Amino acid sequence: MATDPNRPGNGRTSSGPGVRRGNVERLLEALRTHGPSSQAALARRTQLSPATVNSIVKDLRAEGTAEIQPVNGRESLVALVAQQGVMVSTQVNTDSITAALFDFRTGSRHDAALTRGTDFDIEGGGPRDVADLIHTLANEAGVQVGDLAGVGVAMQGPISTVTGTAASWARLQLPGWNDTPVAGTLGDLLGVPVVADNDANLAALAEWTWGAGRGCTDFLYVMCSAQIGGGIVLDGKVHRGGDGLAGEIGHIVLDRNGPVCFCGSRGCLTTVASERSILSTLAASGTIKHALPEVIDGAREGDPACQRVLYEAGLALGRALANTAKVIAPSVIAIGGLLGQAGPIMFESVRSSAEISSLLAVSPGIEFRAARIGADAALLGGLASVLTLTAQGISTLPEWTTRQFRNDYSNTK
Ligand SMILES: [Zn+2]
Repeated sequence: MATDPNRPGNGRTSSGPGVRRGNVERLLEALRTHGPSSQAALARRTQLSPATVNSIVKDLRAEGTAEIQPVNGRESLVALVAQQGVMVSTQVNTDSITAALFDFRTGSRHDAALTRGTDFDIEGGGPRDVADLIHTLANEAGVQVGDLAGVGVAMQGPISTVTGTAASWARLQLPGWNDTPVAGTLGDLLGVPVVADNDANLAALAEWTWGAGRGCTDFLYVMCSAQIGGGIVLDGKVHRGGDGLAGEIGHIVLDRNGPVCFCGSRGCLTTVASERSILSTLAASGTIKHALPEVIDGAREGDPACQRVLYEAGLALGRALANTAKVIAPSVIAIGGLLGQAGPIMFESVRSSAEISSLLAVSPGIEFRAARIGADAALLGGLASVLTLTAQGISTLPEWTTRQFRNDYSNTK
């Protein structure tokens, strides 16, 4: 069974149970985004009447989704309660597939991964491999796949909301999928609800729900790792555009005479600030590094070539972000992925580029932040979208749901 990946609010009917469901989803989203809230605050944020909020809260309490937390004996806050059930989130990258199973019955997380060339062949990595990985995880956790509440899929590439497939220009990045509708095919293979979206959109959703963008109604997120993707939250919901392909910050053209990009354009941000471009620029100087974290380590240890490439990547990123931010005026811009963990050397150049672009003169309130959730953001965004799909939510991520891959790169460095 496939489900439309759009966030709550989209596709509501004008009357009847559809409206009620839409209202419930808006209220759940407000609780996820802002945490425990008074009913008055919920009415303000959802623009629902106090009577409607009161009635929905009553139903949510009766079904065990929400609880009332007394504060100072006077005010009381509505909060989401930890959920029952088992959910899976999976991330499909060019070279790997990772998946995490979140067991809310026992408060435990199980992880598994497949690598291209080792666990599946060069042309593989498609729906069957993802389904097999989910079966493996379910076995490990002692649960039937058919009993999963839902599966979220984060694809390293843009997914059209019209066709449910990867955008044609990005298909070479995802061999094994071609014209396959992601959520529909996996839903049929697994027999449970599946939501699929671009990994940067899901990472933005996680950062907005639980991380650097929490509490903002307008939020710009950019994920810079092997590739560069963006997620945009406008007026309190993830903005996907007409076909679901909004937010391709990585393909903003910065130099029309620059190197050819896999999207078919020239001089995209991706050709300057992605892991591959940074490594190849360094290689041309005779400095051989194999992964972005090595470059970040080199810069910290004083290697001038590593410092230079990160600084220039930050300048390019700052220009692209400033141009985007002038159009959408977010209150917070968060930088995630491996580059977001590079610390001051990168943030200084992003900020100086924003200054050169006069971004802060145009929108003085904009704040740059390092993403908080880190390498797990897309997987946790998949969890957030399954929670939304099943009309559930968590105000605060329990510690067992998170896994820090590189906690040596704290944002304060
Ligand atoms: Zn491009």
